[in-house]
Amino acid sequence: MFHEYQAHDIAVYGGYLENDNELLECTSGGIATAISKYMLSLGGLVAGVSYSKDFYAAQYEIIDRESQLDRFKGSKYVEVQKGKIYRDVKDLLDRGKSVLFFGLPCSVAALNTFLGGEYDGLITCELVCQGPTSPKVHVEYIQYLEKNSAAKSLIFP
Ligand SMILES: Cc1cc2nc3c(=O)[nH]c(=O)nc-3n(C[C@H](O)[C@H](O)[C@H](O)COP(=O)(O)OP(=O)(O)OC[C@H]3O[C@@H](n4cnc5c(N)ncnc54)[C@H](O)[C@@H]3O)c2cc1C
Repeated sequence: MFHEYQAHDIAVYGGYLENDNELLECTSGGIATAISKYMLSLGGLVAGVSYSKDFYAAQYEIIDRESQLDRFKGSKYVEVQKGKIYRDVKDLLDRGKSVLFFGLPCSVAALNTFLGGEYDGLITCELVCQGPTSPKVHVEYIQYLEKNSAAKSLIFP
């Protein structure tokens, strides 16, 4: 479902997934998931963010098939470990691949600075962001939950 709004020379598009089950797995309207599926269907790759197995951290990953998309769904409200992601994206672009890169505005700016030029194969998608949680606070919050709820035994039986 898509809506288009135009003001001056800026066009704004809004939309959401029509599949309710998938919509509920996403944070907002699932636009990120929809764009990712489209890129994968064209044979491109998607650079996005997943949680570590214990949820203590979030890191970048690059995927090339839809079956891997689930782990990108949902906002990870924490500063992400960048690892070698900028280098890996550059390597793929240099090899002629198409890459869809999701990031907070600062990460997209960092990627563009690292690349130092335009690449036809690159599409970037910036998330609306008021700022991520510090990793230290994130870890302390999970530890608090583990200590004070039954959730731990459910997640790590
Ligand atoms: C740190 C943070 C702050 C945010 N602040 C605001 C805000 O102030 N106001 C507001 O309206 N919305 C905020 N959001 C929500 C965000 O802008 C999007 O609306 C939402 O993540 C996209 O929902 P979706 O249903 O389209 O994505 P989904 O289909 O659920 O997919 C999530 C996408 O986000 C990517 N992603 C998840 N976490 C991160 C991360 N930490 N860094 C980079 N990419 C990530 C995944 O790779 C995936 O592509 C924030 C999100 C984050 C991660």
